[in-house]
Amino acid sequence: MQLDDISRRIAAAETAAGRAPGSVHLIAVSKVQPPDRVEAVLNAGHRVFGENYVQEAAGKWPAWRDRFPGVELHMIGPLQTNKLKTALELFDAFHTLDRPSLAEKLARQVQARGACPQLFVQVNTGAEPQKAGILPDDADAFVTRCREMDLPLSGLMCIPPEDQDAVPHFRQLRDIAARNGLSGLSMGMSADFETAIAEGATHIRVGSAIFGARSYA
Ligand SMILES: *Cc1c(COP(=O)(O)O)cnc(C)c1O
Repeated sequence: MQLDDISRRIAAAETAAGRAPGSVHLIAVSKVQPPDRVEAVLNAGHRVFGENYVQEAAGKWPAWRDRFPGVELHMIGPLQTNKLKTALELFDAFHTLDRPSLAEKLARQVQARGACPQLFVQVNTGAEPQKAGILPDDADAFVTRCREMDLPLSGLMCIPPEDQDAVPHFRQLRDIAARNGLSGLSMGMSADFETAIAEGATHIRVGSAIFGARSYA
C-alpha cells in the first residue's frame, strides 16, 4: 500500500537530513476519503490522522476510535469558535490556532476542562489575504499572548502559497519557532514533505499520496 512507500520515503528523508529515525510524525489526512481507504490504513497499524472539518470528523471517528485503540486525531482545518467544544472532544491536536479571538475562547474552555490538545499556531507565511493564519510580523506577539493565557504551545504550522517554492516559507516558520522556543513544526504535504523534513518538519500532513486523490463530489 501507499503508506509503506511514504513511510520509506520519510525514513530516507530523515536519514538524509541527519535526523533521528522516527523523529517525524506522519499525519495521514483522511478528509473526504472513502471509509474503506481509511480502514485499510488503520488495519495496517497507522494511528495518527488529520481532518479538516469538525462535522465530518464527528461522523466518522468516534466509531473508529472504538474499533482501533490508540487513534490520535489532528484538526488541520479552520476552527470556528461555535464548534470549539465539539472539536475539543474529538481532537488530540489543533494545528490551526490562527487568531486572538479563538485563543481567548480556547483558553477559557481549556481552563474549564483542565486539559488541552497539542496546539500549533498557524502562520500565514505568504501573507496571502485569502488564507488564515497569524502574519509573520505578528507571530512573536501572538505566541506571547497565548502563553500569558496559559495556553501550552507545541509549535507552528504553515501552508505555503501553492505557486511558490516552499523552502523560504519552511525556513521562515522554523526561524519564528526557534526564536520563540517552540520545537514543533507542522509543515509539508504530499507534494513537498521530503523538502519539509530537510527543513526541520516534526509533523507532516500527507493526504492524497497515501489515500489517493480526493473526490468532493
Ligand atoms: C488537505 C490538507 C493536507 C493534505 O494535502 P495533500 O496534498 O493531499 O497531502 C495537508 N494540510 C492541510 C492543511 C490540508 O488542508
